[in-house]
Amino acid sequence: ADKLPKPSRQRIFTVANQKGGVGKTTTTVNVAAALSIHGLRVLVIDLDPQGNASTALGVPHSSGTPSTYELLLGEISPDEAIQDCPLNENLKCIPATIDLAGAEIELVSLEQREYRLRAAIESEAIKKLAFDYILIDCPPSLGLLTLNAMVAANEVLIPIQCEYYALEGVGQLIRNIQLVSSHLNPQLAISTVLLTMYDARTKLAEQVADEVRGHFGSAVLRNVIPRSVKVSEAPGYGMSVIEYDPGSRGAMSYLDAGREIAERAATTPNNEQSAKVTV
Ligand code: ADP
Ligand code: MG
Repeated sequence: ADKLPKPSRQRIFTVANQKGGVGKTTTTVNVAAALSIHGLRVLVIDLDPQGNASTALGVPHSSGTPSTYELLLGEISPDEAIQDCPLNENLKCIPATIDLAGAEIELVSLEQREYRLRAAIESEAIKKLAFDYILIDCPPSLGLLTLNAMVAANEVLIPIQCEYYALEGVGQLIRNIQLVSSHLNPQLAISTVLLTMYDARTKLAEQVADEVRGHFGSAVLRNVIPRSVKVSEAPGYGMSVIEYDPGSRGAMSYLDAGREIAERAATTPNNEQSAKVTV
C-alpha cells in the first residue's frame, strides 16, 4: 500500500459520543487499520469495559489480561499492557477487560484521577514506541473514563449516526469538551466529525448530513461511511472490515476516511474550531 503522510506531531484522538451504537468502536478500529496499512504507527486504547475494540482487533481481553484497567489504577507500566494486533506490525492495542467496569468508581478516590491516561501516554514506555496516531475508544457515557480520554487527547473525533435523533446529546458532549478544554486540557479541539451508517437511498440520511455539516462545518469529513453488512460482520472474525473484505464499500469508505484524516493533518487543530460549533 502507498504511504500516508506522517503528522508533524503525534495526533491523539478521543472517539466520543455518549450515545451507544453510533459507530465509535467501528470507527476507531477501522480508521486505525486504515492508517496502519499505509505505514503509520497506530495505538488503539480501548476504554470501554465492553472491550469491543479489543475484540475487533483480534486482541485477547479476558478478565485479568493486562489492560487499561490496571494501567489507570497504576498497577502496571504501559508497555506491559500493549499488545500486537494480527493485522500488521504498525498496529498495537491496549485492550479493555470487563474489570474496567469498576474503574469509574475506583478512580474517584485516587489522586490525579483525570490525568491517569495522559500520564500513561506521556510515559517513556509509550513515547519510545513513536506512535503517529493514538485512538481512544470511549464508552457511551461522559464519566471519568471519557474524561481521562479527553484530558489525554488533542483532538476529538465524533461519529454521528445518520438516523433520527442523530444530534441528541451532542450539545451536552460539546459543552463537556469545552469545559475540559477551558479547565483541564487547552489543546483539545473537535477536529473531526464522521457520518456513519449513511443510507444514500433515504432522504433522512441526507437531511441529517446537511444538519451536521451546518453545525460542524469543515470538521465534518467529506467521506461518509455507508451502512454495510460487511462492516457489522467483521468484528465477529476479530478483524477490521479492511481485512475482512478489502473490496467492500465499507472497507473502501474507511480507507478513504483514514486518508482524509491523515491528509488534513497539516492544518493544526485549534480551539476556535470547537468554539464555533453550535448545537
Ligand atoms: P458504538 O461503539 O458507538 O456503540 P459500534 O461501532 O459498536 O457503536 O456500532 C454499533 C453497531 O452497529 C455494531 O453492531 C456495529 O457492527 C454496527 N455498525 C457500525 N457501523 C456500521 C456500518 N457502517 N454499517 C453497518 N453496521 C454498522
Ligand atoms: Mg463501542
